Amino acid sequence: MKPLIVANWKCNPTTIAEAKKLLGEMVKSIGKTENNVVICPPFLYLPELIDFVRKEADLSRIEFGAQDCFWVESGPYTGEVSPSILKDSGVKYVIIGHSERRIHFNETDEMINKKLKSALSVGLIPILCIGEKGGEIVNQVIENQLNQDLDGITEKELNEIIIAYEPVWAIGTGDFCEPAKAAETLKFIKSKTLPTGRQVKNKLLYGGSVTSKISRDYIDVGYDGLLVGGASLKADEFINIVKNV
Ligand code: PEP
Repeated sequence: MKPLIVANWKCNPTTIAEAKKLLGEMVKSIGKTENNVVICPPFLYLPELIDFVRKEADLSRIEFGAQDCFWVESGPYTGEVSPSILKDSGVKYVIIGHSERRIHFNETDEMINKKLKSALSVGLIPILCIGEKGGEIVNQVIENQLNQDLDGITEKELNEIIIAYEPVWAIGTGDFCEPAKAAETLKFIKSKTLPTGRQVKNKLLYGGSVTSKISRDYIDVGYDGLLVGGASLKADEFINIVKNV
């Protein structure tokens, strides 16, 4: 299966004009590769960027994702965006439990679990982010997060979830996790028995300071794709990451 490369633009860029320019530069080259790409821009840009890409004939391999969602479908929750709203906007994926949300917005595993269930219920594909802050026993952190985040999720739903291993210390720092080390965690995740009683068979991504120089190495050690933050804001670098895998 072709690797899946997910671009997390975070809270960037600050205008739709810049967002369209960035995407426009990317799609010309990405359209020529065979890899699957998911662009996760800020919420507000989603409808316009989706429209922009769909008007280009050969770009069906580019999909869109949101960077978060709420767990209730509708109601008096000022400022929130529900999975149904995302689905209706043409969004296919949603990042859930990103460490920046866990850290800056106090997202707990209980909230992440609710978000996963809600996203799955409307047919969005969740990209669940897990990873240690640094200094802890990696496998213990991963095991706890998987147990709590996936609690009560059915076997069928479980198959839909993409899991991204993102060591927090590697995010946005330039200090990537060596592929050989990331491979050990990959092995552990795959060996893990989930709350449903089965082992992890999900698509697994690596994320954390990925650049085009090392992108291929994570695929070579067994990852199914990458979650790319900072480097996805530079068109040339992101194109090279996609090409190199
Ligand atoms: C991320 O935001 O998920 C991420 C991996 O960021 P960066 O590539 O900048 O480390």
